[in-house]
Amino acid sequence: MSYLTWFLNQFMRLLKVKLDKLGSKMIMVVDLVDELSESLVKQLVLKKDRAVVFKDIPKVCPHCHSTEMRGVEIMGAKLGVLLWECSDCLDIFLKYDMVKTERELQEASKYWTNMSDWGRIPRAEFN
Ligand SMILES: [Zn+2]
Repeated sequence: MSYLTWFLNQFMRLLKVKLDKLGSKMIMVVDLVDELSESLVKQLVLKKDRAVVFKDIPKVCPHCHSTEMRGVEIMGAKLGVLLWECSDCLDIFLKYDMVKTERELQEASKYWTNMSDWGRIPRAEFN
């Protein structure tokens, strides 16, 4: 294992711990949408007719009323938490308006990383 790989592994581990404490998770755009297309945000919210913006994390899920809400960070997006997600029903809600969210998602969709380079963190641990 090269020093750089080791360093990145440590870095990602620390980042994950930090995110866990904040109660958010970090994923890639491709984890979020069925396909990369012109409008990503529509795949997330418009199909459910739920383009409401929640500046702060909703105390309860607007859909199932669960209190298990968390932030979702997208790798490659400039903003921190970009979306809200209900841990129970997995519905996604907007933190920013659709235009801004779309811009971030498009930017982040160019971002790609080889997970195997990180020393394999099982997907389940991101939750
Ligand atoms: Zn819910």
